[in-house]
Amino acid sequence: MINSCIFCKIIARTVPSDIIKETEDIIVIKDINPKAPIHYLIIPKKHIQDIQSLDQVDSVIVANILLMAQQLSLVLSGSQAFRLISNNGLDAGQIIFHIHFHFLAGKNIPYF
Ligand code: 5GP
Ligand code: ZN
Repeated sequence: MINSCIFCKIIARTVPSDIIKETEDIIVIKDINPKAPIHYLIIPKKHIQDIQSLDQVDSVIVANILLMAQQLSLVLSGSQAFRLISNNGLDAGQIIFHIHFHFLAGKNIPYF
């Protein structure tokens, strides 16, 4: 838990959010500013800054993120089609430095 991190605060429930799903190591919330009809954020509970900061010990978390996307697609979106995006670094548009994956589904999903 990093005190200045908004996603750590959401995970700790000190900041409210619309929680879609939660497991031992992952939380899925609605993005506050959706860019597609369905826009969720898949966030590991462990504070990891970005993909560059991943360690071998995080491999189970990474696998579980993909499996979570699969489950969201099957159960929640009503459609198999989705896009999974992770912005890594300022120049790529990352604004929250706690690793997360945008799950986007519905018609006309943007690249961003
Ligand atoms: P990034 O650009 O870092 O990949 O994306 C961060 C995402 O987090 C943005 O799409 C933004 O709308 C979302 N976001 C930022 N602050 C909050 C918040 O407090 N609650 C929720 N639910 N989403 C947030
Ligand atoms: Zn964090």
